[in-house]
Amino acid sequence: MRVTDNRYATEMAKFNLAVRMIGHEARTGTIRRCTGFSEDRIRKIYGTYFKNRRGNTVKRRRGKTPRQITCFVASSRQQSEATLLGCFMVNAGVVLPGLSDGYPHKTRLDNLQLGERFCDAFEAYQALHPEPQLCFENAWNLYRALAVEQELYFASCALCQGIYVQDRYALDYRRCPFCELKASG
Ligand SMILES: [Zn+2]
Repeated sequence: MRVTDNRYATEMAKFNLAVRMIGHEARTGTIRRCTGFSEDRIRKIYGTYFKNRRGNTVKRRRGKTPRQITCFVASSRQQSEATLLGCFMVNAGVVLPGLSDGYPHKTRLDNLQLGERFCDAFEAYQALHPEPQLCFENAWNLYRALAVEQELYFASCALCQGIYVQDRYALDYRRCPFCELKASG
């Protein structure tokens, strides 16, 4: 492949990723991080491909990604949902579960690959969860809390040996949310 072809392919991949992320209502800052596009360019893509389309319900989100982690661990149902999404991130190669040292890590991906694989994980979660409650930016916050800040980790259940997302600073009873839900149901 010639250098110019390569550049063109990369530029197209970034553009496609930006469209994909806008479709998920990712915040501008998150799209910038993955594509390297300017805010102005993202605004124009949104204006051309979303804003003026008939029946458009996609909104452009600005501001910062939410940072709280309580929405991932406050109840067994929320914890099970965060676990499902977290496992899709592992499967997509975005997060390494780090079961040997207890802490998840981010994988070595460039920003474009990270964005693409993150979208793969988020779309799998949306397709397979019957009532997905976590939006794209919640999902990005989950990624950050697991693999960057390590405020959350993958604990392992004493009953079923499955892994689940847990608050690093919470008391852990080694019961995954799925076993909890089964016991309470
Ligand atoms: Zn379990």
